[in-house]
Amino acid sequence: MRDRLGRNIDYLRISVTDRCNLRCVYCMPAEGVSYRAHGEILSYEEIVHLVSAGAKLGIRRLRLTGGEPLVRTGITELIKQLKAIPGIEDLSLTTNGILLTPLAEGLKAAGLNRVNISLDTLRPERFAAITRCDGLEAAIRGIKAALTAGLNPVKINTVALRGVNDDEIADLAALTLKYPLHVRFIEVMPLGADVAWAKNHALPLAEVKAKVESVGRLVPATVTGAGPAQAFRYAAGLGTVGFIGALSHGFCSRCNRLRLTADGKLKPCLASDEEVDVKQALRQGAGEEELKALFLRALDLKPSQHQLQQYEEHERIMCQIGG
Ligand code: SAM
Ligand code: SF4
Repeated sequence: MRDRLGRNIDYLRISVTDRCNLRCVYCMPAEGVSYRAHGEILSYEEIVHLVSAGAKLGIRRLRLTGGEPLVRTGITELIKQLKAIPGIEDLSLTTNGILLTPLAEGLKAAGLNRVNISLDTLRPERFAAITRCDGLEAAIRGIKAALTAGLNPVKINTVALRGVNDDEIADLAALTLKYPLHVRFIEVMPLGADVAWAKNHALPLAEVKAKVESVGRLVPATVTGAGPAQAFRYAAGLGTVGFIGALSHGFCSRCNRLRLTADGKLKPCLASDEEVDVKQALRQGAGEEELKALFLRALDLKPSQHQLQQYEEHERIMCQIGG
């Protein structure tokens, strides 16, 4: 699938739920989250039907996300079914890791290739402040379980936040010296419940990189599915460090993805309020051709670039889109 700008779109990020067991400050409000009712969320059967049509158009890579994808019952079965769709080559998952330990082996056996685990701090009290929940120990156990299960590569997503975890950037990067982890620092985007908070705590990647370089000299590296991340490694490192500058380094010209929300909308861009309703079509018994047409409509709506740097409010927050 090529869009108007010639970008090859072969990647679909699928949100399987808008629910989460954490409440990260940059993503969700502390209270008063209005979740979609169960019946409003796409069933696994509907997701598989839609992805099968997308695969016919050239979707090759999938990522499951949320909310927290591991809170949805039966996720391992969904992974098995998605991986069996002809054309799907790569299947990954983004998780906060809390529920990963007992699931990791089964997810791998079901066909999950790799996993991204979010971790912004190594300090328990700070973890509780950022996520508004306890759970650092469980998240770290989840990371170890992912490594043991062979979900390779294991990437760590760290949102870099001024005044919150900027004094831990070097410690988190140094994990890659000891462990085969791929730590990626992400600029906070104004897509959470509190846009002003994101603006006040934004930490440009140039500053993050300087802190990472205080640990040792970086050399360019490659890592599977690096996407928009620029990857590097320390000479003696087992893993890599990456930088995802959604705001300061526009990578829209290389964008390769569409998104599916848990409530059945195809979104052309994380930062666009445009969406194409696929749930209605699925529930009216749409066949492959009709679903393919909806993919192409979403493709047509892809903006040339996002406008996140304007710090405007959006209709959906991160957990309702699927980060
Ligand atoms: N719950 C899972 C998790 O946290 O990994 C998956 C969903 S979460 C929305 C996906 C990713 O988006 C996480 O790595 C999270 O840190 C990131 N994220 C959430 N809100 C963000 C924001 N406002 N700016 C940048 N990244 C954000
Ligand atoms: Fe939940 Fe992930 Fe959002 Fe944190 S970033 S509140 S773990 S969905």
